[in-house]
Amino acid sequence: MDTPKNQQIVIDDTTLRDGEQTAGVVFTLAEKKRIARMLDEIGVGELECGIPAMGRNEQASIRALVDMGLAARLITWNRAVIADIRASLATGVRAVDISLSVSDIHIQRKLGKSRRWVKEQLKVALGFAKQHDLYVSVGAEDASRADLDFLVELLRIAEQEGADRFRFCDTLGILDPFSTFDKVKYLADRSHLDLEVHTHNDLGMATANALAGIRAGARFVNTTVNGLGERAGNAPLEEVVMALKHACGIDLKLDTSRLVEVSKLVGEASGRPVSEWKAVVGEKVFSHESGLHADGVLKFPGNYEGYDPGEVGLSRYLVLGKHSGRHGLQERLGKLGLVLENSRLDSFLERVRTAAQAAKRPLNDGDLLQLFQQQIRVA
Ligand SMILES: [Zn+2]
Repeated sequence: MDTPKNQQIVIDDTTLRDGEQTAGVVFTLAEKKRIARMLDEIGVGELECGIPAMGRNEQASIRALVDMGLAARLITWNRAVIADIRASLATGVRAVDISLSVSDIHIQRKLGKSRRWVKEQLKVALGFAKQHDLYVSVGAEDASRADLDFLVELLRIAEQEGADRFRFCDTLGILDPFSTFDKVKYLADRSHLDLEVHTHNDLGMATANALAGIRAGARFVNTTVNGLGERAGNAPLEEVVMALKHACGIDLKLDTSRLVEVSKLVGEASGRPVSEWKAVVGEKVFSHESGLHADGVLKFPGNYEGYDPGEVGLSRYLVLGKHSGRHGLQERLGKLGLVLENSRLDSFLERVRTAAQAAKRPLNDGDLLQLFQQQIRVA
């Protein structure tokens, strides 16, 4: 299968590979299938779905995903060794990521090898994969710490040997968006091969770095749902998609209204539910409490919302707390079918603020109803 042609930028979501690699996370096959199905329905172009070399169980689950006949391309992760690629072939996938360590630190201190060895290994593994007509992404592990000219050498070999793209990995999440841009641009200026960026969130910059890589010319980007992944995680699918749309003006035309749904699914399956204030998919990220903001958003949502909450499957929520104002209160009362004449609104607002302060938390519908009934009795 060729690269989806109607998409300039292609998401390669690796929730089922790098996401599952998170310490302590395991998905059942049923969960993998549900996650894959939903990502496919949302319109994600490619799913990295496992590591066949891990053994029979992993191979069987990848085979089961292949048998689902999804529109998304399935790709597996492999070391640059023939045995790994053979294991991938046995699962029925037609695309592989062939990963090699490319920094001198990894080459010397992890592998005990040389740059020459890495180049040879690439030729052998890539040659084998292409003999079998596989679509190949060459994954440059720890590329962020590698010598850029060595990366260019590898890129040229990859191109000559028929690779389909080259993955630049900030394996340790140590870059910032500016250095990511510079490095990816350096490679893009020296090769015709499609580039892919794989970023990690160790310094809180996975999304920013993914965007920087795309701006520098990468056409493929790795994500995971909720940013699940090794250590501090990967670039979250939901953030990359929405940031591309609203910060960069690049609409991938995914069904973003299901981002919260897929976030919940992966949160449950991984045993790592997202916080209420998680960017984009947190249940409460469209909450407004302060009188000024609530009033502003009720007059015109664009005053205090960068995009419509419905775009990601959320809804606006007006919190009643110590900073609330009249308009927010009226709106919340209205939602409960309660009406209070204007003359009594100020005194009721005072009671609401006092109650929230005493409870040290915002008031829920039950609290509000109770206060309202008390107010009616007082009156
Ligand atoms: Zn990774």
